[in-house]
Amino acid sequence: MCTVIGYEKRKARKQHRCDLCGEPIEKGEEYVRWCSVDGCIIESKLHKDCELLISDYCGDTHEQEWSDDYVFDWVCQQLKEVGVHVAYDVRTFYKDLKEMYFKVFRNEN
Ligand SMILES: [Zn+2]
Repeated sequence: MCTVIGYEKRKARKQHRCDLCGEPIEKGEEYVRWCSVDGCIIESKLHKDCELLISDYCGDTHEQEWSDDYVFDWVCQQLKEVGVHVAYDVRTFYKDLKEMYFKVFRNEN
């Protein structure tokens, strides 16, 4: 189990890569920096909406841990349940999947 020890919203001073979707976090963009302990300290940098996705995932599954694959599978499953067909090789389109998820479950664009 990993324990979250630090959480903060930051503005990117340089470009980072998101640990969930793998897309770049652009310079100047607000992102979430997340530190957890799982034997050693793990630092994650996440888009704000990717962090929302993870908190939805943890809330729904009662999991304390996540990985990009777990969350990805879960999102596909959620969409399938409401009748949105997701091709499984959509892995490279995490961004599209994320948008689809927010449109369906949070009524956002
Ligand atoms: Zn992301």
